[in-house]
Amino acid sequence: MRQATVYIDSAALQYNLNRVKQLAPTAKIVSMVKANAYGHGVKDCLAALSETDAFGVACLQEALEIRELGYLQPITLIEGIFSADEMQLVIDQNIEVVVHHQAQLDWLLAHKETYIAKGLKVWVKLNSGMNRLGFKIDVIKTVINQLKAEGFTCVLAMHFANADADHPLNEQQIQQFLEVKNDCAPLMGSCCNSAAIYKYPELHFDYVRPGIMLYGATPFADRDVHDLDLKPVMTFTAEIIALNDIQAGEHVGYGSTFTADQDMTLAIVSIGYGDGYPRAFPKQNYVAINRQQTRVIGRVAMDMIAIDVTGLEVQLGTEVELWGETRLVDDVATANGTIGYELLCRLSNRARRKVI
Ligand SMILES: *Cc1c(COP(=O)(O)O)cnc(C)c1O
Repeated sequence: MRQATVYIDSAALQYNLNRVKQLAPTAKIVSMVKANAYGHGVKDCLAALSETDAFGVACLQEALEIRELGYLQPITLIEGIFSADEMQLVIDQNIEVVVHHQAQLDWLLAHKETYIAKGLKVWVKLNSGMNRLGFKIDVIKTVINQLKAEGFTCVLAMHFANADADHPLNEQQIQQFLEVKNDCAPLMGSCCNSAAIYKYPELHFDYVRPGIMLYGATPFADRDVHDLDLKPVMTFTAEIIALNDIQAGEHVGYGSTFTADQDMTLAIVSIGYGDGYPRAFPKQNYVAINRQQTRVIGRVAMDMIAIDVTGLEVQLGTEVELWGETRLVDDVATANGTIGYELLCRLSNRARRKVI
C-alpha cells in the first residue's frame, strides 16, 4: 500500500504550548486551531492542547467541531458571525464572538441578555492600519463604551500586519491600541500572535493568540524554530517505491528538465502535489533520509518525485522525510516561494495520519 504519512507529535505540541506559557506567563492563552489546526488535524491536536485557556477559530463550523469533539474551553470566533441567525447557536454553544462591523454589533445587541447571562465576553476588533477587519479608532471607543454600558465584558483585539518584521506601521498599530485601551479603561486587551509574543513581551496583556509557534514552525523569515526553541509537530514522510540507475546524459521526469551530468542512482518516492507536496519549479526541493538531506531531481509530479540517492544506503520501503525535524517545513517553504503556514494548511487528505 502507498505509505505517505503525516506524523503528529503530541509531546512537541505540548512543549510548544509550554514555551508560550514561559514567554507570556501572565497572559491567558487562546490557542489558534483554525484551518484544521493549521493542517495538523484538529481532532488530534485538541487533546495535546488541553492545558490551553481557550481556542481560536475562523468560523462557526470550526467552533462547532470542537464542541462536537467534547471540548468545553472558551472559543473565540475571530471573524465573528457572518449572519444574524448564527447568534443563537453561538450562545447555545458558549462561543465568544469578535465584533468588527456595525451589523455584527446589532446582532449581538439583539441577544444582549442571553449572551451576558452565559458569561461570554465580546471581543471588539480595532482596525489600526491593517485594513482587513475592525472599527477604526474614531468609532471604536463609542462602540466599546456602549457595550460596557449595556453590561458586556469586552476585550480589545488587534492584529499586527507586520509582527514578523520591523515596519513603521507597527508603531502606529501599538499607539492606537494603547490609546483605546487607556481611554476605555478598564478594558482587557489582546494583540499578540506568535511573532508578537516573541517580539513584544510588554504587549501580552490579558490574552495571547499563538498559532504557528504551537505547531513548531516559525513566523519569522530570519529565525528558525531551533533559534526560537520550538519543536516541529508534523513530520511528513513517504517511501521509496523504485530505484533506478541512470547514466550521464539521461533525462528525468516531465519536461525532461533534468539531465544527469554523471552516472547516478535515483529513488522514486510516492509523494507529489496531489498530497500537497509543493512543486518548487523552477526552484529546488530537498528531502531528508536518515537525517541527511538530498535533492529532488526533475519536476514534482502528482504522485511521485525522483530524488538523488547516489552513494546513500537505501532500499525499497526506505522512509523519506519531506519535512520534519531535519528538513524544516520553513525551509521547504522558502525553496518554494511561500511560508510554512501555507504548506501545512494545504496538505490533502491522501496521506494517512498517525499521532505519536
Ligand atoms: C491566525 C491568527 C493568529 C495566529 O497567528 P500566528 O501567526 O499563526 O501566530 C492570531 N490572531 C488572529 C486574529 C489570527 O487570525
